[in-house]
Amino acid sequence: MTQQVLTILGSTGSIGESTLDVVARHPEKFRIFALAGNKQIHKLAEQCKRFNPQFAVVADAEHAAALEQLLESADCRTEVLYGVQSLSDVAAADEVTGVMAAIVGAAGLPSALAAAKKGKTIYLANKETLVISGALFMETARANGAKILPIDSEHNAIYQVLPRDYAGGLDQHGIESIILTASGGPFLDTDLNEFNHITPAQAVKHPNWSMGQKISVDSATMMNKGLELIEAHWLFHCPPEKLEVTIHPQSVIHSMVRYRDGSVLAQMGNPDMRTPIAYCLGLPDRIESGVPALDFGTLSALTFRQPDFQRFPCLKLAYDAMKSGGGAPCVLNAANEEAVAAFLGGRIRFTDIARVVAHGLEQGFSDGFSDIESLLEQDKQARAQAQKGIAALSGK
Ligand code: NAD
Ligand code: MG
Repeated sequence: MTQQVLTILGSTGSIGESTLDVVARHPEKFRIFALAGNKQIHKLAEQCKRFNPQFAVVADAEHAAALEQLLESADCRTEVLYGVQSLSDVAAADEVTGVMAAIVGAAGLPSALAAAKKGKTIYLANKETLVISGALFMETARANGAKILPIDSEHNAIYQVLPRDYAGGLDQHGIESIILTASGGPFLDTDLNEFNHITPAQAVKHPNWSMGQKISVDSATMMNKGLELIEAHWLFHCPPEKLEVTIHPQSVIHSMVRYRDGSVLAQMGNPDMRTPIAYCLGLPDRIESGVPALDFGTLSALTFRQPDFQRFPCLKLAYDAMKSGGGAPCVLNAANEEAVAAFLGGRIRFTDIARVVAHGLEQGFSDGFSDIESLLEQDKQARAQAQKGIAALSGK
C-alpha cells in the first residue's frame, strides 16, 4: 500500500485538529509533509513533535523565530517557513498527494488554488474558496486533473448519496433536487425582540457542533447555510432552483438527495467532523474515525421545518447572491467576514451583520472574473465598503 503524503493547511483549527486525530489512527496510511498554523505556535509545536512534518508554516518572521526556538529545544527537525507564498508552496510540492484546505475565510483561497493547479487531491473544508471563486476554482481543478473531495458535512453527505459516476447533470441521473439540512443554530427559537442583544459568547455556542468562531457565528445567522448553497451549486453543478434548505435541529441527517422516483437518500451520523474527514481520506475504503456509533436507542425524534427569512436575513442575501452570480458571492463573503469580525470584536450588533452585507451588495459587483487578480480586487473593495458600513453603525 502506498502512503498518502499530506499537507494540512489550518492544522491548528477545529478541522485541522480533527484531521490529525483521524491521521493518527492510521499511521501506516498517512505521512505529514507540512502543517500550517498561522499564529498558534505552541499548538503547532506540539503537532510538529507528534507528527514530524518536513515543514511547518506560520504567518510571519516573528512567529517563525518563536516556533523555531520551541522546536529546537525539543530536538524536532521540522523546517519552519512563513508567509502567504509558503502556504502555496507546501500545498503544491511534488511529494504531496493530498491537501487538507482548512484555513478559515478568503485567506484560504491562494493555497487551495495552488493545489488545484498542481492536480492534487484537495480535501476542501474552506467553503469560502468556492463561494468567492467557484467558476475559476472548479475550472482550474478540471483543467489540471485535481480531485476535490468535500469535507463540509452537508456536501460530504450529498457526495456519499449521489450516484458513484455523478459528474453533473441532475436530470440524466434522475435527480430532482439536493437538500441541505441546517441545524438552525442557537437562536432558532429565540424571541426576535432579543436579537439586538445577542452577545458574541452566545453566538459562538453552537448547540450540536464544536467549530471555529467564524463558522459558529455564520451558523447563528445562517449565513453558513447560504455559503453552503453556493458551495453546493459549484461542487455538484446544481442550478440554484434545484437546491433546497430544510432546518433539522438534531443534526443527525447531514443532507439528502431527492430522486425522481420519490426516493430521498440521506446520510446520517453523529455531528462530528471526523466522519466526513475519514470518509474522504480513506477513499475508496471506509476507515475508522473515532466517532461513536449512532445510538438509535437514545435518539429523540428527527424533526424538520422551513427556514424563516425574517429571522435569518443572511440566508436570503446568500440565495439572492447565488442567483445573481458574477461578483455577488465574492462581495457577500467579503462583507460577511468583515462584519463577523466586527461583531466578535464588540463593534457592531448581531443584527448589523446582515445590514453590512446587504449594504455591500447594494453597492454593486462585477459580472464575473477572468483571473484571480480581478477577483481579489473585488474582494478588497468589498472589504473597504464593509468597513465604512461598520464605522457608520458603530459610530466609530
Ligand atoms: P478555525 O478558526 O478553528 O481554524 C482556522 C485555521 O486557519 C487555524 O489553523 C488558523 O491558524 C488558520 N488561519 C486563520 N487565518 C489564517 C490566515 N490568514 N492565514 C493562514 N492560516 C490562517 O476554523 P475551522 O472551524 O477549523 O474552519 C476552517 C474552515 O473549514 C472554514 O472555512 C470553515 O467554514 C470550514 N468548515 C469547518 C467546519 C467545522 O466543523 N469546524 C465544518 C465545515 C466547514
Ligand atoms: Mg457545513
